Amino acid sequence: NKTILEVKDLKTYFRTDAGIVKAVDGVSFRLDKGETLGLVGESGSGKSVTNMSIMKLIPMPPGKIVGGEVLLDGEDILKMTEKEMSRIRGNRISMIFQDPMTALNPYLRISTQLIETVRLHQGLDKAEARKKAIEMLKLVGIPAAERRIDAYPHQFSGGMRQRVMIAIALSCNPEILIADEPTTALDVTIQAQILDLIKELSEKLNTAVIMITHDLGVVAGMCDNVCVMYAGRIVERAPVDDLFESPKHPYTNGLIQSIPRLDEKGTGRLYSIDGQPPNVIDLPECCPFHPRCEKAMDICTKKYPPVVELEGKREVACWLYEENK
Ligand code: SF4
Ligand code: MG
Repeated sequence: NKTILEVKDLKTYFRTDAGIVKAVDGVSFRLDKGETLGLVGESGSGKSVTNMSIMKLIPMPPGKIVGGEVLLDGEDILKMTEKEMSRIRGNRISMIFQDPMTALNPYLRISTQLIETVRLHQGLDKAEARKKAIEMLKLVGIPAAERRIDAYPHQFSGGMRQRVMIAIALSCNPEILIADEPTTALDVTIQAQILDLIKELSEKLNTAVIMITHDLGVVAGMCDNVCVMYAGRIVERAPVDDLFESPKHPYTNGLIQSIPRLDEKGTGRLYSIDGQPPNVIDLPECCPFHPRCEKAMDICTKKYPPVVELEGKREVACWLYEENK
């Protein structure tokens, strides 16, 4: 499979009154054409900052990308000018967010917003662009698209608005779609429909997807591979089924245990990982998970664990798997 995006040793820091926050601290991963990759972690783990760094949308200052490469088809977008970058955003790489209202203009009809995007990216005249826009709305499952295209965003439900956002994001035929918690604000049944839609369309259009979520349940039915993030780093990478079947990193194991399960009485049993997520300011040179880890050893408190390659295209950053401690 051809690699479309390669992130190499990405580091994005923020200057705060309390000190330097190493929000992303040496993240590396590859995304193949048509692949769906999950980026999973608690809030503050660095998954959204990774995504904003890829799009070069980090507010500078206080943020700064201090190191690494983001290769889009071999070209480092971190070296591009803002003008070059603006041709990539919403064109070769599209995004959808948790709250579609932040991306839609509430005062403009959906038709105005969608037709503009289509015209801009596909060079169609107005009538052709409207036809194409209606096609896109049908594709994402908006009923009575011919009529509803002229409605305003507030006339759509949350789920329907997210469908419109998906239509806008895909209308430029991007190579990569980044979805940052796209279903977190939606009801459970609508969540499943939106995830199915993203899956179906990305397969149909051969779009690679980065699915950013705090919810392992989301990646289960959706992703090919998963990267688990903790404290600004990727601690485990694995094909999705292998990850659930045999998690290697103690943190991944905790996350999987904490997915709510229903017992016979229908009440959820929730296991949670003891302890607090780390304060990413002035992280010591050790495994940041060690205060919460049942398996922590002496060395875990002294040195950051190396990334160990395991069989089956798996990687884990944990001292348990390193032979030469
Ligand atoms: Fe636990 Fe040590 Fe592995 Fe960190 S490196 S997850 S503390 S065993
Ligand atoms: Mg986030």
